[in-house]
Amino acid sequence: MRILHRLFILLLFCASSLKGFNQLPDDNPLKYKSTLPYQAIPFDKLKDEHFKPALIEGMRQQQEEITAIANNPAAPSFENTIVAFELSGELFSRAGTAFNSLAGANTNPTLQKLRVEMAPKFAAHSNDITFNEKLFQRIQTVYNQRESLKLDPESKALLELTYQGFMLAGATLTGEARDQMKKLNEQEASLTANFGNMLVNGTKNSALVISDSTRLAGLSSGEIASYAAAAKNRGLTGQWVIPLQNTTQQPALQSLQDRGTREKLFMASWTRTEKNDSTDTRTVLLKIAAIRAEKAKIMGFPNFAAWRLQSQMAKDPETVEKFFNELAPAAAAKAKDDAREIQEFIDQKHAGITLEAWDWDIYSEEIRKAKYDVDEKEVKPYFEMYTVLEKGIFYSANLLYGITFKERKDIPVYHPDVRVYEVFDNDGKSFALWYCDYFKRDNKNGGAWNSAMVGKSILQNTQPVIINVANLPKPAAGEPALIDFDNVRTMFHEFGHALHSLFAQQKYPGRRVPRDFVEFPSQFNEHWAMNPVVLKNYALHYKTGAPIPQVLLDKIVKASKFNAAYGLTEAIEGSLLDLKWHSLKTTDVVTDVDKFEKDALKSTGIDLKAVPPRYRSSYFQHIFAGGYSAGYYSYQWTKMLSEDAFEWFEEHGGLTRANGQRYRDLILSQPMSNDYKTMYRNFRGRDASIKPMLKYMGLEKKGF
Ligand SMILES: [Zn+2]
Repeated sequence: MRILHRLFILLLFCASSLKGFNQLPDDNPLKYKSTLPYQAIPFDKLKDEHFKPALIEGMRQQQEEITAIANNPAAPSFENTIVAFELSGELFSRAGTAFNSLAGANTNPTLQKLRVEMAPKFAAHSNDITFNEKLFQRIQTVYNQRESLKLDPESKALLELTYQGFMLAGATLTGEARDQMKKLNEQEASLTANFGNMLVNGTKNSALVISDSTRLAGLSSGEIASYAAAAKNRGLTGQWVIPLQNTTQQPALQSLQDRGTREKLFMASWTRTEKNDSTDTRTVLLKIAAIRAEKAKIMGFPNFAAWRLQSQMAKDPETVEKFFNELAPAAAAKAKDDAREIQEFIDQKHAGITLEAWDWDIYSEEIRKAKYDVDEKEVKPYFEMYTVLEKGIFYSANLLYGITFKERKDIPVYHPDVRVYEVFDNDGKSFALWYCDYFKRDNKNGGAWNSAMVGKSILQNTQPVIINVANLPKPAAGEPALIDFDNVRTMFHEFGHALHSLFAQQKYPGRRVPRDFVEFPSQFNEHWAMNPVVLKNYALHYKTGAPIPQVLLDKIVKASKFNAAYGLTEAIEGSLLDLKWHSLKTTDVVTDVDKFEKDALKSTGIDLKAVPPRYRSSYFQHIFAGGYSAGYYSYQWTKMLSEDAFEWFEEHGGLTRANGQRYRDLILSQPMSNDYKTMYRNFRGRDASIKPMLKYMGLEKKGF
């Protein structure tokens, strides 16, 4: 559940009004702005060989534009420097977005190779801009005049954030320190690209192969058919392959009866990138952590976390630590209670077994059934994926924000599983395209994400083209896509990100939402999956169309909170691992990843063997190859925001069009800002409180 981190975060400042000579051949579809509706990416015309020349030419053009800005004889102004810079790199942005879309969701060996080949070139390009002294001097001159320029709030934020971006990247460095930073940036970019590719391959290679059908006991016939199909795809006809998902825990662990198979599947996941082979990421991640410590030192910060958090809503690691000091003990205490309950249950049923990580899901599922009588097999027929989408997600968005959706079959897609919808506002006018690519594929990054293929910009007259990508189980041909409630939530979650992108009202293309705010609209949107009015509309039996029985619905709502401490605790462990790796000083020498990980978890006081971290360091894509380095805490931080905001809805009449509009206006549509605390306060009437989160998750101490 993450926002796709864009490789070119510094560079994707989108279209340009400065026209450089475009040296691409005319048959390269990336050469010109797309003529498709909403400038949608022409996936039908794009071939692998189009990317490299377009990316290289895009960088050359942007460099030319930057040189023109830097050498402009006119005195630096907001328009000729900040806006011109913001709008530079049109081709690079277009090519980069198309490339990232495919490299993330539908990759192949050519694109994988190109990704590694281009990474240092992108980093070098980024460095050339960041360390262009003339450019920075002009930006600094405008920044120093900021109070007298009478800029509107969005423009002022653009100026401040542009300046801050250069400062954070080390533009103020000179001489040797500057050269050193450039070198480190390039090395880090190559290493993170390697980490990402090793992880995709390691995850693929570690899929569990099963040749004895008795080992599959407990799985549904649909799951077995899908594993047989996965085996067939790999030339293992007659066997079964259980592919790994990106997290430590695997969906099949909830149903596999055979304990040995469960352990094998868990260990396949746990050791996916620790096999001392070409997919072992440990050496790479140690190098990444060391480079980041070095970079922070050059910038005069005690560690990477302190450096990075400056630009976030939280602003510093101390604020985050304070937050975890309140949250972690509450979550761990509840997880321990849950572990005790599961062990008691095991003791009653299977004497002699001690709860292990690979037992948690199957037994907690049994307890859930015993306590709430909610059987996933009973539930799934009511959650057919496209019904969830059209009658749940679209429906709630209509009730809250007045928008409607219409499928468009004429927009090209990169894979037949992708669907495209046009989005209409409450006045009936269409204003965006939204794509979804929900099914799991071997050539897709793990997890789920939201990504803008075209960003909103009033200045550039562009409307949003947004995609949600996920890894939901693909049914065998002809079978309906029945999903569990967790996946329903994932769909609502990603759509919350999409709404944030779709409703953006901004002049400038780059919105720069901090990581510790970006997961707020998405987690907030998950609430509507459980809203009784919405549930009644979308939770329909796939065969009969009958609405979900009220009694089952009540149980799902109750059960959705069951085991919540597990999810929270494994996520907190991930956050703490992230903070530990990024709190290293250059003098801290780490050589053993596994030992560091173990010690880090122990020191947090929530060292629970049966509750392993959601991601182990060696497959923690978010922090070593994604955009969440020193930022994984953001998920829990934004959970606080989303629960607190939802409490506001509850205090004001819940799901109403008026409440939705207020939230849309004061949160979702807000343009670029560098003060999210104030933005939030404007909506909530006060600062965010952790209490609604503890209450919602059942973590409140009695008398708290
Ligand atoms: Zn997310």
